[in-house]
Amino acid sequence: MADVPAECNIKVLCRFRPLNQSEIVRGDQFIPKFQSDDTVLVGGKSYAFDRVFPTNTTQEQVYNTCAKQIVKDVLGGYNGTIFAYGQTASGKTHTMEGKLHDPHQMGIIPRIAEDIFNHIFAMDENLEFHIKVSYFEIYMDKIRDLLDVTKTNLSVHEDKNRVPFVKGCTERFVSSPDEVMDVIDEGKAARHVAVTNMNEHSSRSHSIFLINIKQEHVETEQKLCGKLYLVDLAGSEKVSKTGAAGAVLDEAKNINKSLSALGNVISALAEGTKSHVPYRDSKMTRILQDSLGGNCRTTMFICCSPSSYNDAETKSTLMFGQRAK
Ligand code: ADP
Ligand code: MG
Repeated sequence: MADVPAECNIKVLCRFRPLNQSEIVRGDQFIPKFQSDDTVLVGGKSYAFDRVFPTNTTQEQVYNTCAKQIVKDVLGGYNGTIFAYGQTASGKTHTMEGKLHDPHQMGIIPRIAEDIFNHIFAMDENLEFHIKVSYFEIYMDKIRDLLDVTKTNLSVHEDKNRVPFVKGCTERFVSSPDEVMDVIDEGKAARHVAVTNMNEHSSRSHSIFLINIKQEHVETEQKLCGKLYLVDLAGSEKVSKTGAAGAVLDEAKNINKSLSALGNVISALAEGTKSHVPYRDSKMTRILQDSLGGNCRTTMFICCSPSSYNDAETKSTLMFGQRAK
């Protein structure tokens, strides 16, 4: 039987990156004041989260504080989702992926990959594990398979238990952390080839890495399944700053719509009005439906720039995070 996790609520964690070189050269001010390990003061207003990570927090500290337990729970048969929300260049990809092949700078996803297999090697030899991963992105409300670029517009279906899934999405069986990393590298390379400007593209699409773990006891045939969605969201910045028009404006509206759908789902879950959770308002929230709230482990990283230049975006990002509390 699975252990019941200590808490099943939604955790909201806030992480500030350091000022970067061009911000320092420009003379930007460093605006956050870290008051305690769960409170940050920005522009005279105090924001409380489950945890606030100041700029000097290491990737390892972030992982140990918030993702490590989720791995155990997923191996215990629970579903989970970890998101990174924030404006472009606030540290979402740094948090989720980091530098993939650098043991110090690697982010949550590669650490999870290592941790899963470490746990498995230490578990009951009579348990057989089947681990598969998928990697896709949602751009302009279209789901594109990053492991098979010919699949550019996949749809969301429900299985016989009414669990939503992305139909036809490539699934790769993996049996070591290195194999997981290979899949990520492959997906990222495909994404690079398919678009002209990778930075712009990644800031306008949501990328989703799914780890599915099935275990079966070889004698009793008892089965246990858990899955974990790891989501690097599109940049949350308001479009007015870039003075966008045409296609860029359409992209921005689309992102706005999907991020507000996510915000609405998270805040409905946080309020506990489970019967009115508007999962169906976007493709992303439909896909995540059985891995958000309820009995699931949900963690949201609120990623922020510390620069006075981004002051307005930072406040709006912090407010988004507060809705989940
Ligand atoms: P996003 O994915 O939100 O657009 P990135 O994760 O790509 O932003 O971060 C933008 C830049 O800032 C990258 O060069 C990244 O390495 C750096 N960065 C982000 N967060 C941190 C951090 N906590 N510590 C050091 N550098 C960071
Ligand atoms: Mg990014």
